[in-house]
Amino acid sequence: MFADLHLHTNFSDGTYTPEELAGHAHRLGFSAVALTDHDTMEGCPRMAAACVTHGIEFVPGSELTCEHERQELHILGYFLDTANEKLCTALAKFQEVRVNRIREMVARINALGVKLDVQMVFDIANCRAPGRPHIGRALVQLGICSGMDEAFDRFLKKGKPAWMPKYRMTAAEAIDLIHQAGGLASLAHPGLYRADHVIPGLVAAGMDGLECFYTKHSTPIMEHYMLIADKHRLLVTGGSDCHGMNKGQPLIGSTKLPYQFVELLKKRVAARRAT
Ligand code: AMP
Ligand code: ZN
Ligand code: FE
Ligand code: FE
Repeated sequence: MFADLHLHTNFSDGTYTPEELAGHAHRLGFSAVALTDHDTMEGCPRMAAACVTHGIEFVPGSELTCEHERQELHILGYFLDTANEKLCTALAKFQEVRVNRIREMVARINALGVKLDVQMVFDIANCRAPGRPHIGRALVQLGICSGMDEAFDRFLKKGKPAWMPKYRMTAAEAIDLIHQAGGLASLAHPGLYRADHVIPGLVAAGMDGLECFYTKHSTPIMEHYMLIADKHRLLVTGGSDCHGMNKGQPLIGSTKLPYQFVELLKKRVAARRAT
């Protein structure tokens, strides 16, 4: 039995609907999945319903954009109460900043003499957490860029003319927010940051888990993070970070977290809620 605990839908910058994503998870034989759209839980009710029809266990989640020692970090929240008021308010703030950021990024692209209507980007995004890939898709559709890579390389990457930071809470704030919503917090794709030195600080802030299993983690990198998780007594999480067709190939199926780790997560949530 396997799980994929890192998935995006079209409620953030993935291309699959929750129903399509649940269908792929079923076809690939997953026993459990988590939805972790960026800074939103909007897709969770539909994903939960779609998982019920396929007999797949569903974990409601989100991937929160945070900052720690000037480094952008993504903190995954799992087993979230999607009705939690504090969490919903914080996510609404994130979403407002994302919308304003899209306006500003498109204005910067326009200032370069490139015609792009911001409404087209919002229509493509069609969700509350729009991001750079939605601008990229618009640029590709208009024939201004040949593909997403060109859109990021010319305009959207950090250091390029349209790039803008997002509102970020600190990792400690994100961990607290996740905990008060009944959830567990895990550091996403640690292998992408080359910043292992931040891990002890996050552990001190109450972080519960580490995403050891990840598409872009080679076996030695995965083993490296398993040792770190063991050392700090962190729970082990993992997933593909599938964005549908956004990055060319759908990644679902490329990472399989053994189900025993999901059981350990559930035990921890139950113990936390019992106290
Ligand atoms: P944002 O949340 O708006 O900062 O956008 C970040 C998203 O852009 C993440 O999901 C990245 O994986 C995605 N991204 C970064 N570079 C590329 C690229 N070259 N092609 C497609 N997506 C990308
Ligand atoms: Zn994304
Ligand atoms: Fe991420
Ligand atoms: Fe992700």
